[in-house]
Amino acid sequence: MKKKNLVCIVCPNGCDAEVLMEDGSEIKILSIDGCTCDKGKEWVEQELTHPMRTIASGIPVEQGDFKLVSVRTDAPIPLGKIFDVMTVIKRRRVKAPVNIGDILVPNPAGTACNIIATRNVKFTE
Ligand code: SF4
Repeated sequence: MKKKNLVCIVCPNGCDAEVLMEDGSEIKILSIDGCTCDKGKEWVEQELTHPMRTIASGIPVEQGDFKLVSVRTDAPIPLGKIFDVMTVIKRRRVKAPVNIGDILVPNPAGTACNIIATRNVKFTE
């Protein structure tokens, strides 16, 4: 049996979770203590079995009143896909105007998310 400690990041409470797992290469959770709600327990389980992350970055804009539009994933992606998704984002260029919520890259690197704009960029000549 092995023990792992994690801090839950789902809400600002930051509960300290203590997880007991079976020894072996496959992750088999025996118990989760310290989380004060089910959402936290679900997060701990996911973090240990298939961790997910959201990404925030920027994409260059042509003819915009800002040279860069801030973007983020509209859903969490598998941790192992971050590099591939960032590569797609780095290659992308867009033309103004851009509006908050515009999908600038659908399903990057085969993930089930979209890269969306998080600011408005107006067209300028
Ligand atoms: S376990 Fe629940 S209360 Fe504690 S940090 Fe996680 S979400 Fe918040």
